[in-house]
Amino acid sequence: MIALQRWVGAGLDLLFPIQCAGCGGAGTIWCVECDVSIVRLTEPQCQQCGYPLDNRRSCPSCVSRRPALRVRSYARYKGPVAQALLHLKYHPDRRLVSEMGAWLDELHVREGWRARVVVPVPLSKRRLQHRGFNQASLLAEALGRCAGLPVDPSRLKRVNDTRSQVGLDPHERWHNVRQAFQAEARSFEGADVLVVDDLFTTGATLSACATAIRAAGAQSVVGLTVARA
Ligand SMILES: [Zn+2]
Ligand SMILES: [Zn+2]
Repeated sequence: MIALQRWVGAGLDLLFPIQCAGCGGAGTIWCVECDVSIVRLTEPQCQQCGYPLDNRRSCPSCVSRRPALRVRSYARYKGPVAQALLHLKYHPDRRLVSEMGAWLDELHVREGWRARVVVPVPLSKRRLQHRGFNQASLLAEALGRCAGLPVDPSRLKRVNDTRSQVGLDPHERWHNVRQAFQAEARSFEGADVLVVDDLFTTGATLSACATAIRAAGAQSVVGLTVARA
């Protein structure tokens, strides 16, 4: 079966030559030029949300509304990284996903977190059926492979089919997803959980996930995203 998949994969590569998900250049899914152009988010940054600061305290937005977990994002959401994440929304490209999984693993190692299970931000059933896959799940699996951690896409559920966050102001975003996630009572008892999503915008979605996971008994919850708006 794996041999067949490889053979089909090689055939598809011949029919549809690989293009860079960042710039469309031929030959590789993520080219050196795009890699060099990444604006990586490093210290000093807001302790809670990872926003770049000139000290290590909290950013203004975390002072007014503190997300329910610490989050780190690999890069600024711009240029080729933004292109690649858009690409991933519609094309579940395994090579792109592996590349991004390695980025998340780099962050995970750098932060020295002690998470024991990786959980993707779930999509609603309706959106999952429509799109056919959840890009956060693919990223979580890629990170799990790199970090040697189990991935659990089923314990955290999206219970409210919220409207899309696109076009909402920050206040509306927090309100929109506040009750969107749920996990069965005690299903995360004592767990150290790492939640994964593709993009951090206001932190509302990750925060709502962390609240639901903690309510189900988790000991700690942290978050990673590929990019940050
Ligand atoms: Zn490129
Ligand atoms: Zn912050």
